[in-house]
Amino acid sequence: MTETLESLFEPIRLRIAAAESDDDLRRIERETLDKGGAVAALLAGIPTLPPTERPLTGKRANELKGAIQAGLAEAKERLALRAVERERLGEGFDATLPGARPTRGGLHPLVAVTRELEDLFTSMGYVVLDGPEIESDENNFQLLNIPPDHPARDAQDTFRCDADGKFVLRTHTSPGQVRALKERVVPAIRAGTFAPPFRAIVPGKVFRQETTDASHEHTFHQMEGLVVGKDISVGHLIGAMKTLLRGVFGREIEVRLRPGYFPFVEPGFELDARCPFCKEGCSVCKRSTWIELLPCGLVHPNVLRNCGVDPEVWSGFAFGLGLSRLVMLRYGIDDVRLLLSGDLRFLEQF
Ligand SMILES: [Zn+2]
Repeated sequence: MTETLESLFEPIRLRIAAAESDDDLRRIERETLDKGGAVAALLAGIPTLPPTERPLTGKRANELKGAIQAGLAEAKERLALRAVERERLGEGFDATLPGARPTRGGLHPLVAVTRELEDLFTSMGYVVLDGPEIESDENNFQLLNIPPDHPARDAQDTFRCDADGKFVLRTHTSPGQVRALKERVVPAIRAGTFAPPFRAIVPGKVFRQETTDASHEHTFHQMEGLVVGKDISVGHLIGAMKTLLRGVFGREIEVRLRPGYFPFVEPGFELDARCPFCKEGCSVCKRSTWIELLPCGLVHPNVLRNCGVDPEVWSGFAFGLGLSRLVMLRYGIDDVRLLLSGDLRFLEQF
């Protein structure tokens, strides 16, 4: 028997060192210490040895058993410590690796600007109202002083929803005015609880049967505004518009009014804003330094009367802000079709 303890133990030591679990350790224990194991084999060979070698071999067997037991105990402790450490850090956690950044969504520029404007107008005492995208012809046209054969209808290529033409996809947010008057103002006046001025905005989608190009889309966004009170004047209107532009562009923007014809306002105006991008003309303002921003005016007495409000007592102003257009101006977007394209390459820029 010439084998040393080291040479007998070495392959077992390597197995113990490679053990990854308590199960591995139990298997090594079984295969080395139990019946048929390395130690037992050593002891079993003793009777065949010359008598002089027997004591040394017996001693080796005991030493080997002791070394295996000590090695297993140590490994068990090592595994337990590692388990605790893993639990503390989270399995597989490596603080030195760069973090995996979760994909984040963002607000659509239309939503972002709409919310900003809602905040701005709410701070000025406006309420935010909603209305259906399928409107009656009555609310979308007739009560707004646009009777069935009115030429103004031709300018708004309308999607009709039924053969009778009773319902349309709203062509503007102006039926929001009608609903606000009928549902909010009139009941309050009748109940004697009307506290002028009544101020409301109605943001939303509108639809036109248009051939689409960079500046025309069949679906776009507007924001209607309505103020009703006593002695409402064009001055009030200009003041509100200047506040709006200051909110959107973060500074004072010069505005001008040009006469404009819209059946539901009298007088009606086109409000232009001084181009926020240039001083001497650029492609956005088509070299004119003015940008056509929104139609507005004093609410036509017929509209007030149609909705049940006495125009001899009450007056108001209204505006129809082109939200899509404003978003394009704000972010320098040159094609309206991008807004509703759902193209992530476009949207991820915001
Ligand atoms: Zn310009």
